Amino acid sequence: MWSNQKGGFKVIYFDNAATTKPCKEAIEASGQMMESTWGNPSSLHTLGLLAQLKVDSAREVIADTLGTKPKNIIFTSGGTEANNLAVNSAVQTRRRRGNRIVASAYEHSSIHHKLKTLEKEGFEVVFVPAEKNGIVDPKKIAEKVDEKTILVAVMMTNNEVGGVNDIQRIVKLTKQKNPNTLVHADCVAAYGKIKFDATKLGVDTLTISAHKIHGLKGTGALYVKDGTRVVGYTIGGEQEKAVRPGTENTAGIVAFSAAAERIFFKINENFEKVQKLKNHLAERIADTDFIKINCENDFPYTTNISVDGLRSETLLHYLESKEIYVSSGSACSKGARTHVLESMGFDRKTQDSAIRISFSADNTTEEIDTLIDEIINAKNTLCGTK
Ligand code: PMP
Repeated sequence: MWSNQKGGFKVIYFDNAATTKPCKEAIEASGQMMESTWGNPSSLHTLGLLAQLKVDSAREVIADTLGTKPKNIIFTSGGTEANNLAVNSAVQTRRRRGNRIVASAYEHSSIHHKLKTLEKEGFEVVFVPAEKNGIVDPKKIAEKVDEKTILVAVMMTNNEVGGVNDIQRIVKLTKQKNPNTLVHADCVAAYGKIKFDATKLGVDTLTISAHKIHGLKGTGALYVKDGTRVVGYTIGGEQEKAVRPGTENTAGIVAFSAAAERIFFKINENFEKVQKLKNHLAERIADTDFIKINCENDFPYTTNISVDGLRSETLLHYLESKEIYVSSGSACSKGARTHVLESMGFDRKTQDSAIRISFSADNTTEEIDTLIDEIINAKNTLCGTK
């Protein structure tokens, strides 16, 4: 358990896919920027230069974690903006080549809703459902790619059900069908949890976000492959190659790199720890006959479960009353039923009772025991089965 700063309020936090608690390193780095390195990176004097140097080294760190160069990183206000930039750029730069877009059906709302809007504007959008294990079949994506396809968008890991997609293969099969098709991967849920190399993946663009790795909200980045052109929405100065103008969020950017350095240093250790947590959760679930894991896969950080007879919201609030925090669906949908489970073919009952348990390396097996004990209590109390 951790206690937050105010009044020793203790909670068990299993909603790390929504956001993570900022780490000490990120808080200190952002504080330092605000206290002493608060200049505008575009200013020509020393204060500006010092801020610029901090942003430059943060860019190097983030590039390094992705196996790429600083020039390939554009800082944004988060994953949502980076995803929108990627899709918008594909549309702007490839419009003359075609109007077809292929995407997985369970993309985050920042892609899904953007594509729905494009559909209304006349684009032909093909949504490919993920399999029941949360993985998208690369062949099913490639099958839909034709000479008019300008973009393929498949997330590396789904934020509600987990799973790890073979992005490299998706890129390979897509480019075999049409070398001009751009491939974008939303890697927000995977970044800092599994290692990947943007260059080796071969994607044209890729999104990451700081607040899912114990950085601050409101900071993210878009990786852009050499030779791929991106165009922004905002008109202004020359910051971020004029693709994303506006004075940089220096505190957030530097905190992002501090959080990234910390998490990448322990990425394997964290994975093993979280794998043990997931195994423990699965064992405890197997001992009951009313909890099921909706989507079995190899990604240990996110587990989607359903509890027979209990609606998601009822259970969420029951657990909240015990200071245990989980979520139903994605935080970006405010807990409403999302397109994710539906697109994967889960029945209404499963969808309406779905709960997402998402770990960080700070969680413990004792917390999992408390969670399962309280779910059992909820079932007994609220369903009267005692
Ligand atoms: N993609 C995924 C997979 C996410 O989980 C999120 C955050 N819920 C986003 C994109 C959006 O990121 P941000 O909150 O930084 O805008």
